[in-house]
Amino acid sequence: MLHQLGNFVAPKSNTDLPASWIDDHNRLVSEVSDRYQQIGRTVRIEDENRVEIISKSGVKVVGQPDILVEEVLSGPEKSRGIIVEAKTGRQRSKDRLQVMLYMMMTNAARSISGISNMPDGQLVYKDGTVLDIPFTEITDDFKKSVSRLLGIVALAEPPDPRPSGYCRFCKFLDICPSAEQEGHSIIDETDDF
Ligand code: SF4
Repeated sequence: MLHQLGNFVAPKSNTDLPASWIDDHNRLVSEVSDRYQQIGRTVRIEDENRVEIISKSGVKVVGQPDILVEEVLSGPEKSRGIIVEAKTGRQRSKDRLQVMLYMMMTNAARSISGISNMPDGQLVYKDGTVLDIPFTEITDDFKKSVSRLLGIVALAEPPDPRPSGYCRFCKFLDICPSAEQEGHSIIDETDDF
């Protein structure tokens, strides 16, 4: 239920986004794509990279990396593919997770050409910051965590919420009936000091 509401409030298409954001984002995607093409790499952008995967638990997961740099399988330029996300805003921890999911999905998707091994990942921010995410970060533990999460999404009934002090940081706080019932206070007591 909360998940459905969450999806409902999230932007679903470019028409939900401010024009200035779209312009900035397109410019950044174009700049990064040009950089890779100038060093001879084959690049695909946005719509060409749409991935739809059905998980083991039957959940459809859809993703669309901004930029997919195809791998080079032989020769002196032999290189892994790279999944690049262009970010016009400030750095957020979930950016890294998004790219890691795309890395995993593009590696699993048979419909995506140019990626036959786990790709590397990269976050490029408007301020020039570049964060590399090596393919080795897609560990078995990470895959198991994603699998567990999708297993929860697939449940017929959502799991019982576990309200805690962390509810104050939850984006569903305003719509979560459990949080309201528990009436969480943002004031904690401590014996430490
Ligand atoms: S407000 Fe609390 S109980 Fe409700 S979904 Fe968020 S973390 Fe869970």
